[in-house]
Amino acid sequence: MTSGDKLFGRLLGRASAPPLDMPGVPLPGLHVQLDARGHVLGIRGTLRSQLATHAIGERRPPLRELLCADSALDIEGSPADWQHQNLDLDFLGATGQVLHTRGWIEPDGDEWSLRLQDVGDLLAGRQLAQHREQNHQLACQMSEQLRVCSLTRLPEVFNEHLRSLAQRWHIPCVALALLDDEDRGWRIYSQYAAHDAPALWQAGQYLGISLDSVNGNVPLSLARERSDNPRLHSIFGDADGFLVPYRDSQGVAAWLLCGPYNGQQHTNDRDWLNLTAAVAAPLLSRLREQRYHQQLDRMEALQGLLGTGWWELLPATHEIQLAPQLLHSLSLEDGPTLQPLSQWLELIHPADRQALDSRLHDLQALGKPLLTSVRLQRTDAEHHPLWYRVQGQVLGVGDSRRWIGFMLDISDIKNQQLQAAAAHARLDNLIASSPAVIYVQRYVDGALHPAFFSDSLLPLLGWTLAECNHDSLASLIHPEDRDRYFERSRQLLREGSVRSRYRLRDKQGHYHWLLDEAKLLRDDLGLPVEAVGLWLDVTEATLAAEQIKQSEERYRILVEDSPAMICRYRPDLTLTFGNTPLANYLECPPAELPGLNLGHWMSQEQRQAFVQRIGQLSAEFPVSTAEISLELPGREHAWWVWSDRGVFDEQGTLVEVQAVGRDNTEVRRSQNQLTQSAKMATLGEMATGLAHEINQPLNVMRMAIVNVLKRLGNGDAQIDYLTEKLQRIDTQVQRATRVVDHMRVFGRRSEIEQQPFDPSQAVEGTLSLLGEGLRGKGVELRITPADVQVQIKGYVDQLEQVLINLMVNARDALLSKREKHPEFRPWIAVHCEQDSRHVRIWVEDNGGGIDPRLLERIFEPFFTTKPIGVGTGLGLSVSYGIVENMGGRLSVANGEHGAKFCVELPIS
Ligand code: ADP
Repeated sequence: MTSGDKLFGRLLGRASAPPLDMPGVPLPGLHVQLDARGHVLGIRGTLRSQLATHAIGERRPPLRELLCADSALDIEGSPADWQHQNLDLDFLGATGQVLHTRGWIEPDGDEWSLRLQDVGDLLAGRQLAQHREQNHQLACQMSEQLRVCSLTRLPEVFNEHLRSLAQRWHIPCVALALLDDEDRGWRIYSQYAAHDAPALWQAGQYLGISLDSVNGNVPLSLARERSDNPRLHSIFGDADGFLVPYRDSQGVAAWLLCGPYNGQQHTNDRDWLNLTAAVAAPLLSRLREQRYHQQLDRMEALQGLLGTGWWELLPATHEIQLAPQLLHSLSLEDGPTLQPLSQWLELIHPADRQALDSRLHDLQALGKPLLTSVRLQRTDAEHHPLWYRVQGQVLGVGDSRRWIGFMLDISDIKNQQLQAAAAHARLDNLIASSPAVIYVQRYVDGALHPAFFSDSLLPLLGWTLAECNHDSLASLIHPEDRDRYFERSRQLLREGSVRSRYRLRDKQGHYHWLLDEAKLLRDDLGLPVEAVGLWLDVTEATLAAEQIKQSEERYRILVEDSPAMICRYRPDLTLTFGNTPLANYLECPPAELPGLNLGHWMSQEQRQAFVQRIGQLSAEFPVSTAEISLELPGREHAWWVWSDRGVFDEQGTLVEVQAVGRDNTEVRRSQNQLTQSAKMATLGEMATGLAHEINQPLNVMRMAIVNVLKRLGNGDAQIDYLTEKLQRIDTQVQRATRVVDHMRVFGRRSEIEQQPFDPSQAVEGTLSLLGEGLRGKGVELRITPADVQVQIKGYVDQLEQVLINLMVNARDALLSKREKHPEFRPWIAVHCEQDSRHVRIWVEDNGGGIDPRLLERIFEPFFTTKPIGVGTGLGLSVSYGIVENMGGRLSVANGEHGAKFCVELPIS
């Protein structure tokens, strides 16, 4: 039996009451003596002192006055009415407190005796139990709600709970502080403050580590403890505070903060701890859940983004499980996440499949971590291969071992790597096979130390990096070039880049000309780090340049000292260069030649012809040679044989002309003299013919005069008769005059300039000189005149001379033939023909032709078959020169009856 049971037993009247009047022994409880109306007659008992009895005195107040208002209402009527029931009466205490009592009333003579026991403890205990029950229920409710609410509503729901806590315990401000995962400090997760309360905290507020120092086993009341913990002051300020910890396996995980509040109302520490645990535990677990979800989400997103995913090997069933992301990235969306290992291996390119299988085996059997790169088997072959990095490891030990790994799409990197490797290999190849060395020189205290040479160093110079180091490099440089090398380094450091050229000795002791181009690299602070550069072997080029320079010098000397005239001029005939001989002819210093115009020394016609000829030069036919005539200062005429060579640009436009000339004036002059003397010879030759030509008219005139004189002597000189005779004489005079005139013209020297003329003019001229003479010798002339008039360029008298030569030769051949065969009937045929470009004059005879063996030689000067003193051997030679000079050709062949000469001339 507990003491509580004993007390209740007594209260219910089952135990015997102690005697009322027991002097000296204090009566337990409260004994109130009442009269029949219920007025207090006296009070005794141990509880008496607690009552506000001073007000009673001798007054005998009604019992109701001693009671609290609620109890006063409970007792109606007089004490007799109160018998046989439990009376719960609350008395007003002496100090204003309430004294809870329970008891009964019994008659005591004509008075009534009220016996009461203090049941304050009992009530308080019951109330406490009720509170606890309510607290517990509340806690369960809150716990439950926190457990089931959605994660998004979690903060809201929790805040609700804080509010109900605050309202229930009349706490102005409540907050829950959680340990921040990031930096192990405390942070307000949620807070509630009544509208009239000072806001002590804000959600999210960081509290630092101030709570770590507080004993986390029991609630802490600042009022009770008036803790001198200065850190707590920073949390609560001057307000009263109450802190309840929540501990989990790791230690204190949450603090419930209340303030301004002292925590001592109705609830004991245990309850506070339970209550706090009831909200903090589910909250923390939900927050953990949330973090887990977030992490999972992040993981999934990451796997998706990276084209990666985990896998787990299940050796027992020969299966592999793949993350959904991995299935997606392997384009197996529809497949199961669990699949046979062999099926998965089918995805791998045959080239890598076996290796991967064996590594997986090593992972299972030996626990050897797996790290490899594999290609996927792809059906679309034209794409780049898909590369995956497969990594795996063993987790756990013994039976709980797991084989876990991931696959990562590294196609981009791998393909780039392959491309880069290929490019690198190509570059390496290129460098190794080129006459260039790439080098790096490190900057050390103001000096540049060789740190790297490309592989081409060895084949090019025979040195290695070790042999070509900082100490030896300078000694490998040609002594004459060392200063240049040192200056190159200084300039490189000063200006950041340099280009230099010096000689470097190779292992065989030969020097190479190196073109050195380097750039200085600096760090973020602008301090030199290293120089990167290139050595280009330019030995051949340098030597070639040297040779070119030398040969240029030789050519220059050749050009300068040449007796020939050498010059360069632009298409507009402006000289850009001329050598000394040319300058001498033009009578000005060589330096002044550039800028002068060649055309200045030509007649207008010559210049036109010259420009026209130059205009016909082309890239295919860049050379042209001609004899040009110039009017040089102080000279009559100069004849130059002039060879031009055009220089063309890429578009085929004439840029410049290089010309070489030779003075041909003397040759020309002697040629002219030769022509002239040949002409004179021809004239002499024709003297008989001419005498006949002149005799003929003279005879006719004499006959006319004799006849006229006879008529005059007879006296029958009619006017008509005389007129007719005189006209005949006049005609003959004109004829003779024409012959003489023509001879005069023919005997003159040729004009300097070629003139356009009709070739039939020359044929007529020739016939006028020779025609009569030939006919007189019995030679028949068969002349076919030209049907159309054409113009050719040259000298009409010279062409006439050619034709005379041909006809005189024909005559000689014919006459000598007739000497042997008197019955022979000689003839000479002259006929002209033409096409679009040429006119041809044929001179043919029936003299039997030329001995075929002599055909080759008849144009040679001084070749003749005629007796000495008769033939000069110059006729055909000079004729040949004349025709050629007019741009034409003189040729011969043996025809049916005799020699057949052809004069071919270009139509202008
Ligand atoms: P030449 O008349 O003074 O001998 P040419 O140069 O005029 O000098 O002629 C050279 C030679 O060519 C003549 O000696 C002659 O043998 C030959 N010859 C020229 N024309 C004829 C011709 N029509 N028939 C035959 N022989 C000819």
